[in-house]
Amino acid sequence: MNEAFIKQHLSRIRRSGSLFRLVSSRDVLRMHDGDANVIIVGAGVYGLSTALSFAQRGFTNVCVIEQSAEIPHRLSASGDWTRVVRADYGACAVTTRAALIAIERWRKLRRADGLPLLHETGMLFVNSKPWGDQQMEPLAFATLKACGVPVLRMSEWSSELRTRLSNIVNLSTYVDGYFNPWGGFAEARAYTEYLYKECLRKNVRFMLGTEVREFQFETAKGSSLPHRLLCTNGQVLSANRIVLCMGAYIAKPEILQQLVTYAPALKSMLRLTAHPIMYWDLSTCSADTQRWMQEAPVVCPDMNDTGYYIFPGWRSDSHAGKILLKLGHHGTGYQFKNAADAFSTTTTDEICSAPSSHTSVVNWPSRIASFRSILTEVYPASVSSRMKLHEAKLCCYCDSADEVFCIDDILPGVTLASGDSGHAFKFGPVLGEVIADAVLHLPKDQCDPDLYDFQMLCRLSAMRYQAASHTGKQNSVSMGDAMRSKL
Ligand SMILES: Cc1cc2nc3c(=O)[nH]c(=O)nc-3n(C[C@H](O)[C@H](O)[C@H](O)COP(=O)(O)OP(=O)(O)OC[C@H]3O[C@@H](n4cnc5c(N)ncnc54)[C@H](O)[C@@H]3O)c2cc1C
Repeated sequence: MNEAFIKQHLSRIRRSGSLFRLVSSRDVLRMHDGDANVIIVGAGVYGLSTALSFAQRGFTNVCVIEQSAEIPHRLSASGDWTRVVRADYGACAVTTRAALIAIERWRKLRRADGLPLLHETGMLFVNSKPWGDQQMEPLAFATLKACGVPVLRMSEWSSELRTRLSNIVNLSTYVDGYFNPWGGFAEARAYTEYLYKECLRKNVRFMLGTEVREFQFETAKGSSLPHRLLCTNGQVLSANRIVLCMGAYIAKPEILQQLVTYAPALKSMLRLTAHPIMYWDLSTCSADTQRWMQEAPVVCPDMNDTGYYIFPGWRSDSHAGKILLKLGHHGTGYQFKNAADAFSTTTTDEICSAPSSHTSVVNWPSRIASFRSILTEVYPASVSSRMKLHEAKLCCYCDSADEVFCIDDILPGVTLASGDSGHAFKFGPVLGEVIADAVLHLPKDQCDPDLYDFQMLCRLSAMRYQAASHTGKQNSVSMGDAMRSKL
């Protein structure tokens, strides 16, 4: 269905360059000229991977502006410890193929100490009811199989796999599901640090502790004047190419209002939502349990209905070697009147010392209780009863109206790369390439063909937006294929 949408609109986007505003072919040519400087706003996974891709293509004048004094910014989405990496995307073959290329590249990436950044534990999707036709799991299973991934439906499991998995999960609760050995979780903060170091090695310049407050884009047709960014430290920066990679911060009212004057479609296309994640300490579990939990796959129990995803146990050097199990919820998320409050995260123990800005929005004790009940459902009582809450916090996504990334020109020379919708980390190793290809308007024969299709899906932002709404209903081009449960 995504493919059909792309085919239907491909000629239009090829002609126009962007559906936000028509970008003439003369403008596109101007964007290829010489070694004009590229400014990237935001040093999360979008911004850093884009900067690296430009530097790898020989651009020598690439600058990243980041409001935080350190990278990764601790409150940014790319600053969390771990992220799921998977290619299970319902019926969407375009997204699945891009995610599979990303997994291939993840496998080669190493931390500074030589250990892999990807923990390829596999993905386990389990369902307490038989599969329905339009459910995410059977659709993803069929798409992955067609792409050559060795997925195994529950009825096909060997006794060895069943025994291994039943050490970890209450299998008796579930009647169907599948195991996908490809994917797992990545050390997200370590990867963001890796990208930062690679950028420095390639002479990308950084302006840290500098927030862009005002965007003054040149709109006169055919103008050769540069765009201008006004920073909080009083600096004014000019560039011919600007890439906006500001994560959820782009949906802060004071920023979005400015961008909407240039691209009205953005108004109801992007929104900031905050999502809970909790880390559970396994130190009090038996040695066997600790071992099994570290060898466990990522578990998604009735993902369509519950929205929960559970990481394996992970021994974290940054948490005094504790083995932590992370539980996240991919739902509709919380919305804050004052967006700044959403970013003031963290509450530490069962007593729940949440920041005061959260108290009117998040009922932490009740959220912790519901997270605990899912652990009780998925794991044997002997395991779940021993897990102790280590940390609970909110982390913000920039949701797009249909959960597909928005990578599109909003003006000649200004590209939006946003709308991660809680998915972008998986695509980390391909994201920069896709964004830089889009900024440069490279034709298909100069791109990886699968990544080009993915780029087209993300490039049709304004068009997709017209087909989507924020009513919670899925539309025909959703990347997540109904994986959002209600809060
Ligand atoms: C709870 C949660 C769970 C998630 N789980 C997964 C998962 O399992 N798998 C997965 O693939 N993805 C997951 N994601 C999504 C993933 O983390 C994000 O898609 C990705 O990190 C987004 O990267 P980004 O660069 O767009 O944003 P960010 O990482 O937020 O980076 C944006 C940067 O821009 C800077 N910035 C913003 N505004 C300005 C400004 N005006 N001036 C200067 N600097 C600015 C910010 O300080 C920040 O450093 C999850 C996200 C959340 C919140």
